[in-house]
Amino acid sequence: MATNIPRTLKSAQQLLRQGQIRVSDIIDQAYSNIQSKSHLNAFVNVQDKQKHAQQIEESQKRYSEGKQLSDIDGLPIAIKHTFIFQGFTPNIDATVIRKLKQNGAIIVGKTNMDEFGMGSLGMYGYNDKKITRNPIDEEYIAGGSSSGSAVATKSGYSLGTDTGGSVSYPAHCCGLYSMKPSYGRLSRFGQILYSSSNDVIGPMTNSSDDLESLFDIMQGEDSNDSNCINFSNISKIRHQDRLTKNPENISLQNLRVGIVQEFDIAELDNRNRTIQDNLKSILKDQGAQLINVQIPLIKYALPFYFTLVPAEASSNLSRYDGIKYGYQIPIGSQANTSAKQDLFDYIERVRSEAFGINVKRRVLLGNFLLSSRFEDYNEKVIESQRVRRLLIQQYCKVMEENQLDIIISPVSIGIEPPKINDILNDNKGAQKNPVFEYKMDYFTALPNCLGIPAITMPVQECKTYKFPSSFMIQGYFGEDYHLLKIAKELDSLLRINKLNVEI
Ligand code: GLN
Repeated sequence: MATNIPRTLKSAQQLLRQGQIRVSDIIDQAYSNIQSKSHLNAFVNVQDKQKHAQQIEESQKRYSEGKQLSDIDGLPIAIKHTFIFQGFTPNIDATVIRKLKQNGAIIVGKTNMDEFGMGSLGMYGYNDKKITRNPIDEEYIAGGSSSGSAVATKSGYSLGTDTGGSVSYPAHCCGLYSMKPSYGRLSRFGQILYSSSNDVIGPMTNSSDDLESLFDIMQGEDSNDSNCINFSNISKIRHQDRLTKNPENISLQNLRVGIVQEFDIAELDNRNRTIQDNLKSILKDQGAQLINVQIPLIKYALPFYFTLVPAEASSNLSRYDGIKYGYQIPIGSQANTSAKQDLFDYIERVRSEAFGINVKRRVLLGNFLLSSRFEDYNEKVIESQRVRRLLIQQYCKVMEENQLDIIISPVSIGIEPPKINDILNDNKGAQKNPVFEYKMDYFTALPNCLGIPAITMPVQECKTYKFPSSFMIQGYFGEDYHLLKIAKELDSLLRINKLNVEI
């Protein structure tokens, strides 16, 4: 049996094709990793290994005959707890899960997350005690909300979801790659939504090649999700030829890269600023053109986010009333000894008991913003949507007028993920003061506000730093494949310049 499974899909594929490793070795190793790292609290549910026996056998047969289904055939994939899939309680698969399975993936379990995807810390898990721990040093957070997916990716491959940074920030904290695709590119049928106009599904991996493999398998229109469309029919997209997978790699020479003045904020950590500078100089050395641009409305991306997102969340979560489904307290049972037993008391009690602190904060804020406290009951929410429209217009204008391929951005203001005990004990910290946590989304709220694709790439410029850092490349709406090609080129450049994270 193999001692370690290769950490990229591409290398695992190669060994499987050459017969140097068997599908069962990879699955055994994935399960032994899950067990040996259980103290990191990455998984909420683990699929029974025996249930994969037939899939493993069929996949192995395909490899022996040279007829493997895809880059992920026979490979274990972990899924954020926000998806439904057959095998646990639901009896249907989310569309992305169905696509992964049809391509031979073996779904090993569901990963821990901040409840309903709300949070950046991975500390608001499905059970209060389940704080996800960073695989680099378990005293630190793994980032959130796709915290368990990040930990699982450190020794394999997984899926997360992103509303305003939930694949990017954990990738930043754990030295991983992540992709937040264009809005509407991947079906969200079977995903439990946090904010309907922001949520996207995104892969987390150990290489940019693997981002492409997973994105390619999962993307595409779905009749079960009216938001998920065929991108080649969108006339507003600049270059239709950038929409689909194209075998040709692009050259970084003449790449037009936007340097956004509004990203250079005083709070940016020095190490992060140096990484941005290093990146600019290696891009320049390759012949890329760096163009300084201004997108002044960027400063409103975060206020937009924390207005519209709680409003959508409070509306989406109103269905969790303990009557139709979800957490329930049986009327007349011992657990339900409340003197008042009317419907509204019951709903109030269910929601008070079942939701965690971060969810309550978002629901309260959302309901307040949508309430009759304002002259026009939802004026703040409508205003935030206007801000989004203006920001999209400004971003597109800058991209088009300057013919930009990408803009580069930091992922996080600070480099190191916070220490778990500091957060738990600090009176000004995130648990007591949510604004601390909101500010962490300064850079990552933007791609979701704009609906554009964004890829996070890890950087380890000096081995003495315990934690890697990262940067993000952001593209134009719909040009996901173009962005992936640029990421792959940048990936080799990072390796040449010894800025890569060793896997
Ligand atoms: N940290 C952000 C929030 O709590 C983003 C979460 C996400 O992307 N799901 O809303």
